[in-house]
Parts: sequence; C-alpha cells; structure tokens
Amino acid sequence: MTSKTDQNESENDVTTLKTIGMLGGMSWESTADYYHIVNEVVKERLGGLHSARVLLHSVDFFEIEKCQSAGDWDTAGKILGGAAHGLEQAGADFIVICTNTMHKVADQIQSQIGVPILHIADATAEALNSLGLHKVALLGTRYTMTQDFLKGKLVDAGFDVMVPDDAGIELINRVIFDELCLGQIRDDSRQAILEIVGELSTAGAEGVILGCTELPMLIKQPDCPVPILDTTTIHATAAAMRALAETSGGSTQLSTV
Ligand code: GLU
Repeated sequence: MTSKTDQNESENDVTTLKTIGMLGGMSWESTADYYHIVNEVVKERLGGLHSARVLLHSVDFFEIEKCQSAGDWDTAGKILGGAAHGLEQAGADFIVICTNTMHKVADQIQSQIGVPILHIADATAEALNSLGLHKVALLGTRYTMTQDFLKGKLVDAGFDVMVPDDAGIELINRVIFDELCLGQIRDDSRQAILEIVGELSTAGAEGVILGCTELPMLIKQPDCPVPILDTTTIHATAAAMRALAETSGGSTQLSTV
C-alpha cells in the first residue's frame, strides 16, 4: 500500500519534472531511440507510471540534408531555430538537438530561443571524464569528423581526438546516409567500420565516440576492442537526468551551450 509520504513525493515528482524539447527526425531512426531512452531513464528513476515529458518537433530530413550537402547551414539553422522556438512556446524547458551533425548550428538555434540547449559535446565530455579516457577516436558524418563544431569543443575540454583517414571518412559517411538513416543494417558495413576502429585503437585511441546518432544501431560494444561512447544513449540519458534534476529521482546538473 502507498503511504501518504510516498504519494506526496510522487506528486512532487510530477510537478517538477521538466519538459524536454526534442529537435528530431535527423534521422527519425535515431530519434525513436532518444524517445525510448528518456522514458526508460525516467521510469527507472521515478518508478510506477512515470514517463518523460517530451515535446518533439520531427523535421523532414530530406529538407535538412539538402541544406547540408549544399553547404547552406544558415537555412538549416533558421529551420531548426524556428522549430526550437515553437517547442519553447509550447512549454519546453530545454532543447535537445537529436543529431551530432546539426550541432554545427547550435549557436544559431540558441540565438533564436530563450531556453538552453543541452549540447551533445558537453554530455559526451562528461561521459569521457567519467570513464577516465583522454585519447579518443571520433566517428560520425563527414561534417562531424572534418569540421570543428563538435571536435573543437572536445579538444577545448582537453581531449585528444583522432579521426579516420580520408577513405575511412568517406566510407563511414556513406554508410550513415545511404544505409543507417534509411534503417538498413549491413554486416559488411559493420565489418568495414570495425576495421577502421581496430586501426584507430592500434594507433592509440583508448575509446571510440559513436558521434553519429545512428551508428549505435550498427556498432555494439562486444564487437569493439576499446570502450564505445554511444552519443545517442549519452545525450538522451543526460536529457532525462536534466528533466529529473529537481525531482527526488535525480540531481545531476549538466552544462549547456
Ligand atoms: N544523426 C546523424 C548525426 O548524429 C547524422 C544525420 C545528420 O546529418 O544530422 O550526426
């Protein structure tokens, strides 16, 4: 039987649970995982019928990818900024951009809203610190591996970040856009990426950041010679912990951009 105190605590949890505003659809395959993970974490922490308060704006990825390949990041930033503004108006307490790549326009999105963005690089840096890793490989889209919007934040936080060679970058980028974002899981692609991970680990990587939210669909810990950092799980868990921060079920404080 539930005591009066338990009931009061449970009511408090409900009133203080923050609302997560998700910018998703990039691709929807991994946004579904974000939704699943935030709910699992809230359920585990609060128990009973508790679930995450989530507002989701899921974009048409075709439109965003067109901006990416045309190098028109400004238009992508305006689309996502408008979507984030809508989430804020609807009651989101903070915003989660459910993709590594589109953190390229995190500052532009932030400039269009008044609530904070929970940055994927901050959550990843916290996970790296908790594992005591310093030299790490970063796998992701061509944009994430070759540009500084995410890598630079990790380097500034004191990590030594390695990326594959040009052929490896092209292969991983192709697998992400031509297979994983379309929900296709192929053994030959897994093997090819694991070979790249093996080379990076031989070259000194102590861990590998799956810095694309679809890569965890393909690459799993038991197949890897070094610890993997799955940014989908890391980011979604950080979002749930932030939503729970002032409830009796959680207390983690996380930084924002
Ligand atoms: N979800 C992927 C990422 O984490 C790639 C899709 C995109 O370009 O946003 O980077």
